[in-house]
Amino acid sequence: MWIKTTLVWLVCVAGFGTGFYFYFRLFRYLQTGKSENRFDQIPQRLKNILIGVLGQKKMFKDFLPGLLHAFIFWGFIIISIGTIEMILEGLFPGFNLSFLGISIYSGILFFQDVFYTLVLTAVLFFFFRRIVLKPKRLTPLSAHSAWDAYFILTLILLIVTSSLTMGGARLLIEAHPWDHWRPVSFLIASFLNTTSPSQAGLFWISEISWWIHFLVVLGFFMYLPFSKHLHVMAAAPNIFFSRLTPRGRLKKINLEDESQTSFGAGKLEELPWKAILDGYACTECGRCNEFCPTYNTNKPLKPRSLIVNLRHHAEKKGHALYTKNEASEELKKDMIQDVFTEDAIWDCTSCGACVEACPVYIEHVDHIIEMRRSLVLMQGKMEPEAQAVFNNWENHSNPWGLPQATRGDWAKDLGIPLLKDNANVEYLYYVGCAASFDKQAQKIAVSFSKLLQKAGVSFGILGEEEKCNGESCRRLGNEYLAQQMIQDNISVLKKYNVKKILVNCPHCLNTLKNEYPDFDAHFEVTHHSVFLKKLMDEGKLKLRSHSREGGNLLDKITFHDPCYLARYNDITEAPRDLLQLSSGEKPLEMERNRKKGFCCGAGGGRMWLEEKRGSRINVNRVEEAISTGAKTIAASCPFCITMLQDGLNAKNKETEIQTKDISEILFSAVE
Ligand code: SF4
Ligand code: SF4
Repeated sequence: MWIKTTLVWLVCVAGFGTGFYFYFRLFRYLQTGKSENRFDQIPQRLKNILIGVLGQKKMFKDFLPGLLHAFIFWGFIIISIGTIEMILEGLFPGFNLSFLGISIYSGILFFQDVFYTLVLTAVLFFFFRRIVLKPKRLTPLSAHSAWDAYFILTLILLIVTSSLTMGGARLLIEAHPWDHWRPVSFLIASFLNTTSPSQAGLFWISEISWWIHFLVVLGFFMYLPFSKHLHVMAAAPNIFFSRLTPRGRLKKINLEDESQTSFGAGKLEELPWKAILDGYACTECGRCNEFCPTYNTNKPLKPRSLIVNLRHHAEKKGHALYTKNEASEELKKDMIQDVFTEDAIWDCTSCGACVEACPVYIEHVDHIIEMRRSLVLMQGKMEPEAQAVFNNWENHSNPWGLPQATRGDWAKDLGIPLLKDNANVEYLYYVGCAASFDKQAQKIAVSFSKLLQKAGVSFGILGEEEKCNGESCRRLGNEYLAQQMIQDNISVLKKYNVKKILVNCPHCLNTLKNEYPDFDAHFEVTHHSVFLKKLMDEGKLKLRSHSREGGNLLDKITFHDPCYLARYNDITEAPRDLLQLSSGEKPLEMERNRKKGFCCGAGGGRMWLEEKRGSRINVNRVEEAISTGAKTIAASCPFCITMLQDGLNAKNKETEIQTKDISEILFSAVE
């Protein structure tokens, strides 16, 4: 017995000591990142752990694999109790948890049996999925990644079977009062009994199983730092430290801070430490790719690779920095060029589909925008069209470069007061650049204004005093110019003591509502879909009839969810309700809808850039819309409408199918 005990002590000290050293190294590499306080709002962070980790919330979006993963996760918690008990028994012979009381101990053993079975089922399913079903999103990134998955599944299989075998053998060696509720162990014991083993045989089965379990657990612990399954350790902290500000809010750069020598992230040290933790937490599950418009149109940006490459770079660079290995090639790398590519950084539409899908709360968009900021503000590098649009914003406060004096021309004959003439209105209608200058989008401004007038809403506009809100400019990395426009807008809004703002554009909504508070400007901002639904509910707008008018505008509508409305601001039902009220029927649904909606390609400032790489995102989306059989593609964003119309033109479908804003559709249906 003492030989075993001595061996267990030696192996434990060596194994766990080495393992902890590996984890400590990873912890030190985290410190390569920029410091950032993520220790605020602890109760909310603990709540996220409850929901995201213990409740496995995001895993259930893909129900069956999510449920089976949850079995493994919950199973691991229960199994760990048994594993700790076994290791302590090895270190202190005779130890067990029976001191907790027979009923508690019996309960623990019962749940262990149950979860061993569930984990076993899940592991077998995951083998089947990888070998037979081979879902595209799980295509391994490398040979190492491929065998790593099988290796880990095999280790889990060994952990479970060794423990069950040991339990079965021990049931035959000696009966205990806490053994009655161990259905699976009893089954194994009956199987062992069929071979009529001797007591010595049972002893060796139990001992060998114990050693297999012990060594595999130790090996698992030591191997994780080198595996994509490091998420077993990193996912919970990553969820705990995930950002708590509104998802649509970009981090504000303090341009007044003279101590700041660089802006954005051109190298690893300029990304926050949480970005490196994101890399550790990535499970390589590919959910982000599955919903990403750039991945689905064969562009260089693939969010899974972005995060995995970030992890590899952080580990290698972190190691070189902490071992002071100045000869390391990793230190010479330009992060944006050599680890990612400039093309990948510019491809992102900031649609947030990756962040929404990621089960471990990784923050892809924030990192991409930080790199764009470095490219634009520090290196003066940008896509060629970006320079032109920056000039337009700088000189005319709108991306089209049209004269600012004509901003309110669309409203000339509508009798809408300008705030400079009458600031005594309840709402400011902040029109935005698209509905002010773009011919098709102006129809939204006109329809919405007429609806407001019909409903007797007290509102006004700013006309030429309105400036671009800075949203696209920020997302294209030009924080400096964006902040100038933001400050200009805020001073006008404050001059008129504006409290309530209506918008027809989700990008205006997101920026005015979620980002302006960082600039000490707080308004009640409402998207027109929500406001119009409220007017309908209050009976301030009345429907004419549900007649189909010969199968024209109101016939067969599908709704495209704008990313900045659905994902960033949780508005998915109001536009659908309006469409149903207008047409008398629920809109036809595309497969990718609501928070899983597919981007039109315009977000992140991409509206103003050429789409040179891969196939076109708007065509991909329009094809999905066409497949519903709809005759009208409705949206509630002027950018989306432009992109969808371009997609229809590219498919030569512009005469058969039309694009409309929900306000235009509602306007055609009310008295
Ligand atoms: S934000 Fe959208 S485009 Fe950018 S990486 Fe994520 S899913 Fe892809
Ligand atoms: S970033 Fe998130 S969604 Fe994408 S592969 Fe990693 S864990 Fe999965």
